[in-house]
Amino acid sequence: GVNFDNLEVGFDVPALPGMDEADIQTPCLILDLDALERNIRKMGDYAKAHGMRHRSHGKMHKSVDVQKLQESLGGAVGVCCQKVSEAEVFVRGGIKDVLVSNQVRDPAKIDRLARLPKLGSRIIVCVDDVANVADLSEAAQKHGTTIECFVEIDCGAGRCGVKTADAVVEIARAIDAAPGLKFTGIQAYQGAMQHMDSYDDRKAKLDAAIAQVKEAVYALKAEGLEPELVSGGGTGSYYFESNSGVYNELQCGSYAFMDADYGRILDKDGKRIDQGEWENALFILTSVMSHAKPDKAIVDAGLKAQSVDSGLPFVYGRDDVKYVKCSDEHGVVDDPQGVLKVNDKLRLVPGHCDPTCNVHDWYVGVRNGKVETLWPVSARGKAY
Ligand code: PLP
Ligand code: MN
Repeated sequence: GVNFDNLEVGFDVPALPGMDEADIQTPCLILDLDALERNIRKMGDYAKAHGMRHRSHGKMHKSVDVQKLQESLGGAVGVCCQKVSEAEVFVRGGIKDVLVSNQVRDPAKIDRLARLPKLGSRIIVCVDDVANVADLSEAAQKHGTTIECFVEIDCGAGRCGVKTADAVVEIARAIDAAPGLKFTGIQAYQGAMQHMDSYDDRKAKLDAAIAQVKEAVYALKAEGLEPELVSGGGTGSYYFESNSGVYNELQCGSYAFMDADYGRILDKDGKRIDQGEWENALFILTSVMSHAKPDKAIVDAGLKAQSVDSGLPFVYGRDDVKYVKCSDEHGVVDDPQGVLKVNDKLRLVPGHCDPTCNVHDWYVGVRNGKVETLWPVSARGKAY
């Protein structure tokens, strides 16, 4: 944990444990710990009830502390991350099962990856090209380690991954034959459907993905290469993978914090998923710094406090005021009735949680109006 003894509010940290929520320096990220814990328990219970492993996606929170909570409260079996630098943070932080849910091709990065098992963690990486196999194998042998490999299937996201069962088998065979590597399974994350509003539209995309994954697994079994893990699934799809009969590992990330863009998607009963399925646990706490115009409050959270790639934040719990615009350091909040005053604080639900977390140093964990804990955003800025 963090030693708070010599940390100064403002210079080092936005708050210290024990402070009133009202005294937190803004803008900063706050976590509603009760809501976070409920989200984590709920996903854990769901995964357990469906016989699924849950490997929570750490690229969302980039925090060893949040990951540890997902493991202890939610039974998560390990973490996914997207970058070798993130994997290094999680391994050094004591996470024992780490998937880099991406391709690693740069020789220096492959070398870094191959060292990680020496620190005591299981390392899995995605492969979508036989040409990558020899490089991974050479690095693993050099360091005397084992790198486990998932063959990645592009099941509709249109990013990395191969499309045919033949290609999956060819790569799996090469991995199986390569010293220092282990063929562990399949990565099949359908990232393009997660944010579709309609449950039925999402289901149609996932049905196609599941059929594709089943064909690949069938072909692998015929070769004697049964995958131990078939991994995928996100906050907008995990129930489809869980009932597919072919996936056995989930990779959900955003469910723990929620954001404005995800909150809008609908469950099977047509209800927004932030109105029952998940709770908003992540907020940007912001303060009104100017109200020179009677109908506009200017707050201190602008572009540098968040990512707006998926839309602007909304003001949590209020429909009398609306965040309508931002520039680098300013947020413009419409306040038609002039209800806000200078120094009032608002909780903003960011448009997109992952890239928002990446621009902050700390999570301030709050409960019952008090600051309970501070967690570093441990892999913040780790993109290399
Ligand atoms: N798995 C992979 C490979 C991803 O890229 C992502 C996020 O984009 C996730 C899982 C987590 O998905 P979500 O945040 O939708 O739960
Ligand atoms: Mn995201």
